[in-house]
Amino acid sequence: MNRISWNDYFLAQSYLLALRSTCTRLAVGATIVRDNRIIAGGYNGSISGGVHCIDEGCYVIDNHCVRTVHAEVNAILQCAKFGVPTNGASMYVTHFPCLNCCRIIIQSGIKTLYYGEDYKNHPYAVEQFREAGVITEKIEFQEPPNIFGKQMITKE
Ligand SMILES: [Zn+2]
Ligand SMILES: [Zn+2]
Repeated sequence: MNRISWNDYFLAQSYLLALRSTCTRLAVGATIVRDNRIIAGGYNGSISGGVHCIDEGCYVIDNHCVRTVHAEVNAILQCAKFGVPTNGASMYVTHFPCLNCCRIIIQSGIKTLYYGEDYKNHPYAVEQFREAGVITEKIEFQEPPNIFGKQMITKE
C-alpha cells in the first residue's frame, strides 16, 4: 500500500481545517508541525463565541474582513494557550499569508512555511520572510485529495 507523503498529509490537514472556516470571503487552514508531528491547527474564524460571517455577513473595513482571526494566528495562539513552543517549527497553510500573519509567523520562531496557493503575495511579506531567514515554499499535492467531496487543487 502506498503511503502519502508528509507534505501531502500536512497540507491536506490544512485544507481539512479550512472547511471549518466561518468567513465567506476565503477559507484558510494552517497546521503547525514539529518533527513530523502536528502540534496545532487553525482556520480563519471569529473569536470564540462571536457571531460568524457566514451568519451575519463579513465586517469589512478597507476591503478586509476584520471579524475573523486568521488561520495562521489561530494556530499559533493555540500553542500559546496550551504552552507549546513554536520555535523552529514548520507551518503548512492553504494560502500565502497576509502581511500581519507574516510578521506573527516570523516572531513565533517558525522557520519553514509551506503553502498551497498563491494569494495576493505581498512583496513586503516575501521580503520580510527572506530577511528573517524563514524558508517559504509553494508545494503541490502529489496526489490531490478529495476531502468531503471537495477536490483540493493547488494548481493555478
Ligand atoms: Zn468574513
Ligand atoms: Zn493573515
